Amino acid sequence: MSDLRELYQQVILDHNKNPRNFGALEGANRVQEGYNPLCGDQLQVYLLVNDEGVIEDIQFEGSGCAISKASASIMTETLKGKNETEAQEIFARFHEVVTSDASASYDAESIGKMAVFAGVREFPMRVKCATLAWHTMTSALKSGDSVTTE
Ligand code: ZN
Repeated sequence: MSDLRELYQQVILDHNKNPRNFGALEGANRVQEGYNPLCGDQLQVYLLVNDEGVIEDIQFEGSGCAISKASASIMTETLKGKNETEAQEIFARFHEVVTSDASASYDAESIGKMAVFAGVREFPMRVKCATLAWHTMTSALKSGDSVTTE
């Protein structure tokens, strides 16, 4: 388990250092800002959603801790090409894992690469960091107002 944990940390540090799909997205038709006051994480999520509800492109920018940035980075990789319903479903499963009891078993397969963040469930304060980009993304899909994790 500790080897796995180390591997997960490497993935998170890599995405923090070299975030994928980083920067404002030209032609985005959904933009949303998210803020986590507990940690100071702030980011914007840009989506290009087509008429069929498929996320054709997704990018983010902002600043925050390693977990919030890596989570946003992996989210963009995970969601490109998915439709809105699939995006909501993946977030629902991911949210369930990170808010579950630390001793509960979970299905890592069902959340794909986001499984690297499963360990945050042992640190409730960090759950907000790991889910900020996702809350912001779902809010963008609904085209609602700016979100905070409060
Ligand atoms: Zn944070």
